[in-house]
Amino acid sequence: MGIKVCKFGGTSMADGNIIRSVAKIVNSDEARRYVVVSAPGKRFSGDIKVTDLLYECSDEAATGMKRSEVFSKIRTRFLSIEKEIGMDIGLEAMLDEIEWNIVSGAGKDYCASRGEYLSGRIMAAVLGIPFVDAADVIQFKADGSLDESTYSLMASVLKKYPKAVIPGFYGKGVDGKIKTFSRGGSDITGAIVARAVKASLYENWTDVSGFFACDPKIVPSAKCIKELSYQELRELSYMGANVLHSDSIFPVKAAGIPIRIRNTFRPQDEGTLIVDSDVRNPEGNVVTGIAGKKDFTVILLEKSMMNAEVGFAANVLKVLCHHGISFEHLPSGIDTMSVVIENKYLEEVSLDDILQEIRDAVHPDYIHTRESVALVATVGHGMAESVGTSGRLFKALSDAEINVIMIDQGSSELNIIVGVDNEDCAACIRAIYREFFG
Ligand code: ASP
Repeated sequence: MGIKVCKFGGTSMADGNIIRSVAKIVNSDEARRYVVVSAPGKRFSGDIKVTDLLYECSDEAATGMKRSEVFSKIRTRFLSIEKEIGMDIGLEAMLDEIEWNIVSGAGKDYCASRGEYLSGRIMAAVLGIPFVDAADVIQFKADGSLDESTYSLMASVLKKYPKAVIPGFYGKGVDGKIKTFSRGGSDITGAIVARAVKASLYENWTDVSGFFACDPKIVPSAKCIKELSYQELRELSYMGANVLHSDSIFPVKAAGIPIRIRNTFRPQDEGTLIVDSDVRNPEGNVVTGIAGKKDFTVILLEKSMMNAEVGFAANVLKVLCHHGISFEHLPSGIDTMSVVIENKYLEEVSLDDILQEIRDAVHPDYIHTRESVALVATVGHGMAESVGTSGRLFKALSDAEINVIMIDQGSSELNIIVGVDNEDCAACIRAIYREFFG
């Protein structure tokens, strides 16, 4: 029998009752041997995720506060979970120690990681299986990326435990201190565990019944995708479909382990299976899914004979590189080039300064910017073999009177990306959905 690694997200750990349902799910299948958990999430709309409280707490601690107001909310939250599950697992003492460490300057990542740490302790007690601290099995390199030695280290530790709970979201840095992944990173931990134990399946349990062809908040009747490929998932997650962290694909893809998205609140639903494939999905759709992300800036450059100027693009990109800005897209013509960057980069450096540096570096005839741009990606392996897909897409957008600012299609024909005004983002997704899914 193959091993299943199950990761449960924040809403699956939100209170004692839900945690009991999680235990039932785990215990209903002997193959579910390794369990990765997130910190308790929202119980109702308006509730605050424990991780968000922990970040607030670390900000408080940074100001030198010796008694954290916010930490008392976290304490209450965990103690009520302990009460709801009806077990004494010694959380009070753990909370005391954590609070002490936080006010003594343990740092932001340590603080943020404690939600997962305590969730893991709770889950291990409820399941009656060992707790393996992620800090002992996940290692980061000095540049912040995952140290590949994690896989052999984790495999050798987990070999000793037929079943275990591992907290998500963090590991240890080269300085021996706790280090976290980016937000939503417990998905990455689950994928790493799956690869380390050579799992036959990585089950990612959340609060939706799978991956939808587009955001159900935009199209309430959006259909659930039965199967998609790692690449399609990566493209859609990256562009805002936030069921799974987009970086969680890499560990499982490298080992060919399928992922299944499941719903803790509807375990009877089949969910979505993510597999290694580069062909049209079994449902036969040309388009697999559509996702959109707002808040990009497009820098448009024009210069006569740009095509003959060796190093033009490199010199523009050097300016961005100098400011630590990575670009998203680079559509270009003979004498034009557009660079698309995320607005978040413009919080640290002003757009005017960047434009001036580009002017000095490449002397364009014309430089212009367009802010508040949303990118909408239409994704699907089926597009490569279907004539007329882009025609259908652009006709749908023109019928919906949506102005397309930018177009980018990779040569793999896996996606077509259009830039539209932020305000047109939802309408754009709706129009494309209607065209391809009816
Ligand atoms: N608790 C962390 C967050 O809220 C990590 C996770 O849930 O995956 O981002």
